[in-house]
Amino acid sequence: MAIDTYEIEDLVREIEQLRNTQPHLQTLLDAFSHLFLEKNRWLSETSVDPTILPIDPLRFAEGIPLNQQHQLFFTHDPWGSAGWSVVNAITHGFPNLTEDMQVILHRVTAGKSDSFSQFFTNAEEVAGQLALRAEELGISTVSLHFFLRVLNSFMLTKKARDMKLELSAYSWTKGYCPLCGSFPHLAILGEKGQRLLQCADCGHAWPFSRLACPYCDHEDPQDTNIIFIDGQKEEAAFTCDKCNRYLLTANRSACLGHPPADLIAMGLTHLDIILQEKGYSPMTECDWNNFCG
Ligand SMILES: [Zn+2]
Ligand SMILES: [Zn+2]
Repeated sequence: MAIDTYEIEDLVREIEQLRNTQPHLQTLLDAFSHLFLEKNRWLSETSVDPTILPIDPLRFAEGIPLNQQHQLFFTHDPWGSAGWSVVNAITHGFPNLTEDMQVILHRVTAGKSDSFSQFFTNAEEVAGQLALRAEELGISTVSLHFFLRVLNSFMLTKKARDMKLELSAYSWTKGYCPLCGSFPHLAILGEKGQRLLQCADCGHAWPFSRLACPYCDHEDPQDTNIIFIDGQKEEAAFTCDKCNRYLLTANRSACLGHPPADLIAMGLTHLDIILQEKGYSPMTECDWNNFCG
């Protein structure tokens, strides 16, 4: 399922199409399109030598995602090239962070990207040290946090892509991601009404019951709803009154392929605003969907 890389020209075309059809997204696209493009490029360049981890079928059937069965990140992962790509994308999309990104780039090019991988391979040891590390580097905590969050998403997406075939060999019935345990930021309805949940953090996609709430498993038509806006059949949001969460939902049954989930989700931010004004929260937060938090 999912985590396909796109031809760069196709991705550029999808971004331009979104820019033309939804001019109000201009600012978001100016900032994030560099991240989408750079991540896609980095994923296609690092597709050789995938890391395959064994899945324990019993623990998987109990709903234990892969990141709780194994350590997903290793110091020998391609942190250097990922770090370079992330710095490049953030510098172009968020020019006010340029100076801090140059400091990080200096460490990456000096072969010190290990210091960043430590954040993920020894997460418990370095948790809470973010401010200290930022001070040591002479950059803002916000910059370091953003860089690490994007770096984590690049590497996690690579892991999901590496494990795509293995993961699809086992059934998974939970509403959180079988690889990283995060909740989805989007559902795509496909042929024959299949609902594919899309992980916001690693990009993995997996089938899930069309009627149940992925967040709390509740399944009762009285408490769940599908909200359409302006009669648009392609765009909707699933809502659950038991947990008070919503999930953006795109109907793509008529299309053979579709743009990356992040781009589809970004194109539905008007629904995020409406749902959050009604008092619902997203199942997970991504960088652009928190309007009332
Ligand atoms: Zn995931
Ligand atoms: Zn729910």
